[in-house]
Amino acid sequence: MFFRQVQQHGDNFSYIIADDAAKEAAVVDSSFNAGELTRIIKAEDLKLKYIINTHGHSDHTAGNAELQSIFNARIVVYNRSRINSDVKVADGDVILVGRIPIRVIHAPGHTPDSICLLVDNQKLLTGDTLFVGECGRTDLPGGNSKNMYYSLFHRILKLNDDVEVYPGHDYGSKPFSTIGEEKRSNYTLEPRNLAEFIEFMNQP
Ligand SMILES: [Zn+2]
Repeated sequence: MFFRQVQQHGDNFSYIIADDAAKEAAVVDSSFNAGELTRIIKAEDLKLKYIINTHGHSDHTAGNAELQSIFNARIVVYNRSRINSDVKVADGDVILVGRIPIRVIHAPGHTPDSICLLVDNQKLLTGDTLFVGECGRTDLPGGNSKNMYYSLFHRILKLNDDVEVYPGHDYGSKPFSTIGEEKRSNYTLEPRNLAEFIEFMNQP
């Protein structure tokens, strides 16, 4: 599998995932620098099939139109998203890039349309739900601490400890991590019940 984490302007991360044999690729979160993504896709001789968005915030979607116009790829979003798209997905859906399965995990909390993407059962692209050493904020429009609790503690942390975590922003001490490492060291994931977590998230 070809897998590339691309540092964008500022602290956003984009990702390129491709099947080496089929040369089929997906971008996750186009962000601001479509030019760099285009350069890599062309240099690797890949066919961009999908542009998948972890959620609708513009710092993650800004390059969608440019990439689509160059590669004629289809824009994929969660079914509750309001942004311009070609394919809407639901929790549990599997997007195939060549033979690589990308499973959709609906993870509301940061926004209602947030999804995490489990690539080949090994790499979890967490968007703005979970960062290295942090979790996503829930105080923006559509944010919900209760939903974030269920997304983090009942969905994401149920994955195997060795699953790798690739976030939507470079906020941590390193650019990627694992579920096990985050369980041990991420202060937002310390054991809390729902009421405690909501109180924790509502602290100024
Ligand atoms: Zn966001």
